[in-house]
Amino acid sequence: MTLRSPFSALTSALTSALTRSLAIAAVLAAFTLPASAQAPYTGPLFDAHLHYNDEATARYPIADVLGRMQRSGVRAIVANSRPNDGTKALAAAREATRRAGVTVVPFVRLYRNRADYSGWHADPSIVEMVQRELAAGTEAGPYRGLGEFHLYDSANADGPTARRLMQLAEERGLAVLAHVDDVAIVKLFAHAPKAKLIWAHSGIGDVPIARVRELMQRHPTLMGELSYRPGLTVTDDRLSPAWRALLTEMPDRFLVGSDTWVNGRWDDYEALMQQARRWLGDLPPAAARRVGWENGAALFGLAAP
Ligand SMILES: [Zn+2]
Repeated sequence: MTLRSPFSALTSALTSALTRSLAIAAVLAAFTLPASAQAPYTGPLFDAHLHYNDEATARYPIADVLGRMQRSGVRAIVANSRPNDGTKALAAAREATRRAGVTVVPFVRLYRNRADYSGWHADPSIVEMVQRELAAGTEAGPYRGLGEFHLYDSANADGPTARRLMQLAEERGLAVLAHVDDVAIVKLFAHAPKAKLIWAHSGIGDVPIARVRELMQRHPTLMGELSYRPGLTVTDDRLSPAWRALLTEMPDRFLVGSDTWVNGRWDDYEALMQQARRWLGDLPPAAARRVGWENGAALFGLAAP
């Protein structure tokens, strides 16, 4: 045994005090984690809003886009494109999509060209085009939905082609991906009350969250896709309190999407999916998995990856 000098006794007392305060600090830290310390969602993703338009196909060949999905953990996509050739090319790449572990859920786009964006709702030739596409199907199987379509004036939701296509979707169990406002959502459901309607961006144009909740409660087959939704997050990895409450309250009603409507979104694809993983990480884990994967998989009957 060695005698301890007064100095070493002091050192020892200080060390144990320091150890104690470090332990207390660690316990406190566990309860007051900074916003950036939560874990992102790591499960599979279902990208419920993906375009593979004609300006993207040459610049981002099939192997390239599948690589982006694979590196992002995206295991299924709602594929649609202007014109429908991009979707058909993805659907035809059976071996490449199988290797990448990506299931293609094809939708018929209503647009043959940019002019169709504003006039489709009253154009009978769009109904004929959709019927031809549905009859032909894709190499990945039958089309599972219609859209994305836009209605810049919600009154056009009552256009003859809009009405007919909603009824067709309801009759055939097809989902519909619609970029519209809350007024148009009500009108579209008036044509086809049981249609599976996916609300692209869940009210991008200033629709209050209370109105989104109200429409979700009123229409049990309405789903909300969350790309570009203003007010969804407050920081990169924190949902706003109101959205966190809604997604926690209705975890089976929302979906994640990339919306690759311009080529820049393809450049950012992996960053966009990482961003989704960070805010999904702000939800209870079971809710994150539903929004990230299970809701899309359930909508189209996909097996767990
Ligand atoms: Zn879109």
